[in-house]
Amino acid sequence: MRLFRKMLPYYIVTVLLAVLVSAAASQSVTAFSVLTASAERDPKPTVIVDPGHGGEDGGAVSPSGLRESGLNLEIGLRTRDLLRFLGLRVGMTRDRDVSIHSPEAKTISEKKVSDLKNRVLLVNGTEDAILVSIHQNMFSEPKYRGAQLFYARTAGSRELAERLQSVFDTELDPSNHRLAKESEEIYLLSRIRCPGVLVECGFLSNPEEERLLRTEAYQKKLAAAISAALTVQLAERYSE
Ligand SMILES: [Zn+2]
Repeated sequence: MRLFRKMLPYYIVTVLLAVLVSAAASQSVTAFSVLTASAERDPKPTVIVDPGHGGEDGGAVSPSGLRESGLNLEIGLRTRDLLRFLGLRVGMTRDRDVSIHSPEAKTISEKKVSDLKNRVLLVNGTEDAILVSIHQNMFSEPKYRGAQLFYARTAGSRELAERLQSVFDTELDPSNHRLAKESEEIYLLSRIRCPGVLVECGFLSNPEEERLLRTEAYQKKLAAAISAALTVQLAERYSE
């Protein structure tokens, strides 16, 4: 049973990818409903998908000009769709290329602070929420690559981050040996009251990884990895 639970996220990633490449795969859809039955029984938690930045705040920009905000949104929307398909309740902090600052914020820095405060309000105002924030990494040396998970100090965050990190490392990039890290420096993670993780999907400063991140196929894999890890985490939480 333990081994089965350990393998379940990888199995779900495989199934999700099979469904993604073949929309007409009705047999896979049947397998799905069995796997997600326990998550569907209790619709209470709301997964909040948070694509970082947006609007005037493009976040990091790759050497070839790819803005982090757009990529975060693409991956966020794909994740939202998959999680809904799996029967989970999902909300988003933004589903368009906008900053969600309050109207009284005028300067760019005021808008940035207001946008982050509103994201915190949204998460903390949602009952039984789980936050998944989506970002891209950037570093001065181009050699660094690989997804990295950060988590809040709140209960349940570390377990979710570790599961996500292990699915990323196994399914997406076996050469990635990063470990999930707690972060008190990330504004959103330090202020939320629910379980929350921040996924740095990859490095825009690494040309090879940036090329991969641009592709629809890799964005689908990222969304599948996030959705699988979350589904299993929730299924376990509600089977206890
Ligand atoms: Zn970012």
